[in-house]
Amino acid sequence: MPADTLAPRPLQAALVSAKIVDAVLEAIAHGRLTAGTRLREEEIAGIFGASRAAVREALKALAERGVAVLQPNRGARVASPTEDEVTQTYAARALIEGAMAADLAQHITAADIRKLREHIGAQRRTNDSGERREHLRLMGDFHTLLATLHGNSVVTETLERLVARTSFMTALFPPQTQICAIDDHVAMVDALAKGDGALAQRLASKHMMDNRARLRAGASTPTADLRAALLP
Ligand SMILES: [Zn+2]
Repeated sequence: MPADTLAPRPLQAALVSAKIVDAVLEAIAHGRLTAGTRLREEEIAGIFGASRAAVREALKALAERGVAVLQPNRGARVASPTEDEVTQTYAARALIEGAMAADLAQHITAADIRKLREHIGAQRRTNDSGERREHLRLMGDFHTLLATLHGNSVVTETLERLVARTSFMTALFPPQTQICAIDDHVAMVDALAKGDGALAQRLASKHMMDNRARLRAGASTPTADLRAALLP
């Protein structure tokens, strides 16, 4: 039998890659995997019984999301954003989301407001039940929902990328207090419901700067046991 018939099929490799990506994101969201930890291809292949190609695919996908950094000849690491990168990313969100909120206040509908209030209900439920990863996802999702309601697909696409980056930063450097205060979201929706664009803009922008202030990027101790982090 030729050796290549024993190679994993493309679909299988894609599934294994997706599983590795998910395990890394899950480990970061739960604080088991820290900034700067080396992601050794061979070790990860061993942990998941995966091919090196499948691991490379997963690392590439993580790098595209800004979660991993690939260095030629030095392998991959969990990204380690600096204070400056964190500040600039949040400042970009404050600018875009402030302007977007001002605009949205001019054309938001009652059905939109209902959708936003229902979303806030789900945020409270996941916060109370302690589902951290799902809660983090919803907190980011609220902002992309505002973009969707605003209706400019280029803005939505840009914001989705920025939200993914700040969600990762939040997971890496967990704040002492609640990130994205749910009460801020309530106040923003109230301002939108009143059609008060100036207030909505101020609140949306301040919400981002407050979130930024809660994060302390910094050196963390690399995770020692990659297997225990990825397969708890
Ligand atoms: Zn928020």
